[in-house]
Amino acid sequence: MNVKQGLQYVDKIKAHAYDLGFCLCGVTTPEPPAHLDEYHKWLADGLHADMEYMGNERARHSRANPKEIFPECKSILVVATNYYQGEFLSPGAATTYGKVARYAWGKDYHTVMKHRLQQLMVFVESVAGKPVKHRLYVDTGPLLERELAQRAGLGWIGKNTMLINHDVGSWTLLAEAMLDIWLPPDDPYIDDRCGSCTFCIDECPTDAIMSEPRRIDSNKCISYLTIEHRGAIPVHKRVDLDDWVFGCDICQDVCPWNNRFAKVEHDVDFSPSGPLPHLSPHNLLNMDQAEFSKKFSGSPVKRTKRSGLLRNASVVLGNRVDNKSIHSLATSLTGDPDPIIRAHSAWALGQIGDANVVNLLSDAQENEIDADVLIEIQSALDELSNQKE
Ligand code: SF4
Ligand code: SF4
Repeated sequence: MNVKQGLQYVDKIKAHAYDLGFCLCGVTTPEPPAHLDEYHKWLADGLHADMEYMGNERARHSRANPKEIFPECKSILVVATNYYQGEFLSPGAATTYGKVARYAWGKDYHTVMKHRLQQLMVFVESVAGKPVKHRLYVDTGPLLERELAQRAGLGWIGKNTMLINHDVGSWTLLAEAMLDIWLPPDDPYIDDRCGSCTFCIDECPTDAIMSEPRRIDSNKCISYLTIEHRGAIPVHKRVDLDDWVFGCDICQDVCPWNNRFAKVEHDVDFSPSGPLPHLSPHNLLNMDQAEFSKKFSGSPVKRTKRSGLLRNASVVLGNRVDNKSIHSLATSLTGDPDPIIRAHSAWALGQIGDANVVNLLSDAQENEIDADVLIEIQSALDELSNQKE
């Protein structure tokens, strides 16, 4: 294929990508990423927390060179989908209690984008007039996808580490198609349009964003703590969750590029459905496994599993210090089969500190057999007794 023919192919492919619902599409080469050293430093400094899958030997090897995962690769198509749905309150909701990151309001983007990419591949083959070998990745692949997107001309990587495009902002999800045909690459996006802005750094409630080099300390990030972290949330970090039961959008909400350029996309696949966009922590605590599985089937929220989501709900109730939640928390403390949820319910009751709470915690202590839950109950009782003195 000569360059002229390649450019015609790319124009048609991009037009079809937009018809399929992608808002951005670009082409890059399978060259090794230029920022690999920074990624390795991020890992070496332990900033990936316990996301072992990001730092294991296989992932390091594959991320070092896209050709490691697909040796025949000659070009990479990078696409983005706009999931911005505007501002929402659940019907009847007076507050933003139980907040969920926007990307999780609708269907699971892995499924939606993979399906759209598969449709795009059918078109690529029809344009090429022959079968095209490919590998498709939606977030889960061992690729440094934001760097690929920047190299494909889609935008720059902001101080909040998100890909930002000057026409749509950063409420986008990325996916890649590695192809065994050559396509002329787009020019990389070389401008850094964050300028002197530091809104995301200043507004991050946990100081998780480091400006130079641009990186996030996952150990501190609410998105990591609420979604990826398994088991107990360290006590000193629970207050950081504030109202977030799943993820955190603050560093994108405050970004001027989103405030000025984000376009509401009424993409039905990303529209809120069921109880979303807000999840009442009270309702979550009443949810058994069967209901959880049914309600969050096909939703990104299922990634936390029931244990993580109800753990987060307990923490939010504790942060709210809302004595209307005492009954839900006490029921959870004495009746939930999951010790992680019981432990966080005990903590939350200790934060609320109503006169009834001491009795509830003491009763639960009598019957509890899990050592970690017993520690949480005792800590809550100690906290309450210190408050009295
Ligand atoms: Fe900070 Fe939230 Fe952004 Fe994480 S997602 S870096 S906690 S503002
Ligand atoms: Fe860049 Fe400011 Fe947006 Fe942060 S808030 S990503 S510094 S433009």
